[in-house]
Amino acid sequence: MKYISTRGQAPALDFEQVLLTGLASDGGLYVPETLPQFSREEISAMAGMDYPQLAQRIIEPFVSDSIPPDDLRQIIADTYAVFRHNAVAPLVQIGHNQWVLELFHGPTLAFKDFALQLLGRLLDYVLERRQQKVVIMGATSGDTGSAAIEGCKRCKNIDIFILHPHDRVSEVQRRQMTTVVGDNIHNLAIEGNFDDCQAMVKATFGDRGVLPADRGLVAVNSINWARIMAQIVYYFYAAVALGGPARPVAFSVPTGNFGDIFAGYLAHRMGLPVSQLIIATNRNDVLHRVMTTATYGRQSLEHTLSPSMDITVSSNFERLLFDLYDRDGSAVSKLMRDFDQGDIHFSDAAMSRARALFSSYRVPDEETCAQIASTWQDCEYLLDPHSAIGVKAALASGIGDGIPVVTLATAHPAKFPQAIQRAGIVTEVALPLHLADLFDRRERFEVLPRDLATVQAFMANNLGA
Ligand SMILES: *Cc1c(COP(=O)(O)O)cnc(C)c1O
Repeated sequence: MKYISTRGQAPALDFEQVLLTGLASDGGLYVPETLPQFSREEISAMAGMDYPQLAQRIIEPFVSDSIPPDDLRQIIADTYAVFRHNAVAPLVQIGHNQWVLELFHGPTLAFKDFALQLLGRLLDYVLERRQQKVVIMGATSGDTGSAAIEGCKRCKNIDIFILHPHDRVSEVQRRQMTTVVGDNIHNLAIEGNFDDCQAMVKATFGDRGVLPADRGLVAVNSINWARIMAQIVYYFYAAVALGGPARPVAFSVPTGNFGDIFAGYLAHRMGLPVSQLIIATNRNDVLHRVMTTATYGRQSLEHTLSPSMDITVSSNFERLLFDLYDRDGSAVSKLMRDFDQGDIHFSDAAMSRARALFSSYRVPDEETCAQIASTWQDCEYLLDPHSAIGVKAALASGIGDGIPVVTLATAHPAKFPQAIQRAGIVTEVALPLHLADLFDRRERFEVLPRDLATVQAFMANNLGA
């Protein structure tokens, strides 16, 4: 399978190259040139598969040029063996036709483990084969950093540098990054905000400064195609468990960078009967404004109780735009250039395509807390604030009157205790056993000034042999 850029100017790559690349050279994002298709019979046959078997079925066509099936099987088995629930992604019913897909049984208690546990192992496999070493550099406001560190901690061919804003991530989130032991793991606490961290990562991808030329630089944010690919699997898993393909299902997805929900869109395009995808946002509602006004525009960042969705620009939306504009790379390129100057407007044709599958809903903090409280009262099920936004949107959509709606539960509630308290719930929310001693573990991080040259010099001086 070949991968092409959404802006139409960069060379097509195979899976292995795409895995080791961040942005395409024309500034676009890589997407598969064609998608594998699954017939109704093939989807029916998925009913008996456990999660790793299904993952093999879905992922194999995307990677088969680079990874033989038996090697892939081993990588997938190792990846999902670290999840602490035998179903990997269990479905829980919270109301009539209302389901929650628990995606928080991985090592860092958020759905990002599904992709980053796999990504770390895929990288290790191809780097070992190529006898190559790379540097991973990423910025995090919380969940991505810990999931990337957990995913790459055993990889001897990777040095990983994660920048977080000093004193501006929650204590649980910080400790999940800084207590992981490994010589190849470097947590950099930057004296600045998340945007400063992000800007330094972007600048380094543009100009590597003093970093040695023979170390590739790999991105772990959701512009990396392999992350999206891994997330397609659980849409199939949930839909088949609820009676697909005979019975269509809808999904409600707490959304920030549009990575997770884009995977649902791909599942639909690959043949899965998905009747609707609900974009559930917090007050950072750039996507809700797109759906309701056909305008894509930046607004200032709002800090909410669901910090992993606090974004102003939704980078993976460009991947959908590419399809909405008939895969015309020059049209996407022009739109994105215009977006650098100010708001952009989408055509009626593009919007009617988008609205045929997607709807959207915006949930402010008060409603998030109210949803956590009411779901708790209804069935003593505790939602984290991100998942609560999804459930609120699912209920508001009214879709559950006819067909099952699955909300993706993207994080474990113990990660966000303030929101649970704000919802008026007095029950103690314990961390799962494997993290119970998190607050006693030794932390390791380096505080660095908001200065690109200092950060790059630190990286160059701390690379493994
Ligand atoms: C990253 C994250 C999201 C948003 O996912 P996107 O793929 O960026 O849309 C939602 N919830 C949690 C808990 C997250 O960590």
